[in-house]
Amino acid sequence: MKKLILDPEPKNFKNEGNQLKVEWTDGHESMHYHKYLRENCPCALCQGEPDLLGSVKILGQTIPDDIRPKEVSPVGRYAINIVWSDGHRTGIYTFDYLRGLCQCTECLSQKDE
Ligand SMILES: [Zn+2]
Ligand SMILES: [Zn+2]
Repeated sequence: MKKLILDPEPKNFKNEGNQLKVEWTDGHESMHYHKYLRENCPCALCQGEPDLLGSVKILGQTIPDDIRPKEVSPVGRYAINIVWSDGHRTGIYTFDYLRGLCQCTECLSQKDE
């Protein structure tokens, strides 16, 4: 029998200063600097998309220091969509991806190995 592993899901979002705090169903509270989260927007526009020759074009974007999420809404049961104060709204952050961007001391120390 396969062991059942429940992937944690975010259950609560709140803006605190320049951070987005996320409460997870496994009890973890992750924190994400707004700018960092915006810089790591996974959408094709922000990350560049390989063209037919395979080269990736990154569009130069200036992200304001006071960028903040205006709206966070669920996408199915696997991701969230963030509408940013600069009007950007195409980023879909999967739960896995979001959790991987956590900048709390606990998660950061795990990444340092
Ligand atoms: Zn984006
Ligand atoms: Zn964390």
